[in-house]
Amino acid sequence: MLKVEGIDVFYGNIQAIKGVTLEINEGEIVTLIGANGAGKSTLLKTISGLLKPKHGKILYEGKSIAGKAAQTIVKQGISHVPEGRRIFANMTVEENLELGAFLRKDKAGIKQDLDKVYELFPRLLERLKQQAGTLSGGEQQMLAMGRALMARPRLLLLDEPSMGLAPLLVKTIFRIIEEINQTGTTILLVEQNANLALSIADRAYVVETGRIVLSGDAEDLTASEQIKMAYLGGH
Ligand code: ATP
Repeated sequence: MLKVEGIDVFYGNIQAIKGVTLEINEGEIVTLIGANGAGKSTLLKTISGLLKPKHGKILYEGKSIAGKAAQTIVKQGISHVPEGRRIFANMTVEENLELGAFLRKDKAGIKQDLDKVYELFPRLLERLKQQAGTLSGGEQQMLAMGRALMARPRLLLLDEPSMGLAPLLVKTIFRIIEEINQTGTTILLVEQNANLALSIADRAYVVETGRIVLSGDAEDLTASEQIKMAYLGGH
């Protein structure tokens, strides 16, 4: 579904991504694990068109998307839920969700997808007229995910969905990520909590200082001594 081949990404003179190659197959949950600053968010931003790679290819369903405008990439079926959520704080929950569909014209489909979002996140339905900025952290995460789903993505990029959330809410959000995947959406997940990410993922890539240093089935990586020591608390 998605092929990233040998991409280099720079911030000015600083190279944040160094020759990264990875692949995501339709239907999978793939996770990127790695320390702060390893380059995980940069990779997501490059796939969604917020950053442009200097070299390398990004192919989505066989077509090159590297360097295309973010809006074009959303239209092609990739939505990005950024780190820190970035909802529109002064707008209502409903308005935020409607904005997620702003590139679409199929009214009936939009209505259908709104209903699906309410089914996944009943909390949002209870708070439709509430200003998004007054929602709790967990509810804002739900809104950011709901908004991304309103673009009807086939590939959903999630950056640190558990950040700042209480453990019980983290569980809820991860259960919902699995549900979204089971209804046919492929997922690329960036997550500090490697244990949790590996527990729902099919495969994982380990990112260190801008490079992929290891990849494999989530189960194998969970069992690997190297991964346990570096990322899973050493037990
Ligand atoms: P985190 O979970 O902390 O966001 P990450 O793995 O997602 O970590 P990135 O945010 O992708 O890491 O950062 C990769 C590298 O690029 C880091 O060295 C970071 O300091 C640098 N970087 C990120 N954003 C910028 C920017 N806007 N300008 C310059 N350097 C940046």
